[in-house]
Amino acid sequence: MEKVIHCKDLGFDCEGVVRANSDQEVMKLAAEHAKSAHGVTELTNEMVEKVKSVIRDE
Ligand SMILES: [Zn+2]
Repeated sequence: MEKVIHCKDLGFDCEGVVRANSDQEVMKLAAEHAKSAHGVTELTNEMVEKVKSVIRDE
């Protein structure tokens, strides 16, 4: 089972999806995506909690 984050679940108008084998890895990939695709350079605790809440198992 993979950990998956759909960018649109975070409120972005974006079809981006990141997948990894652990919560830690998928969070890291999501942070990189947010930075490169959306210019998010700083992840607040609030955002981290939100990202965690939208992690799906697929
Ligand atoms: Zn995105």
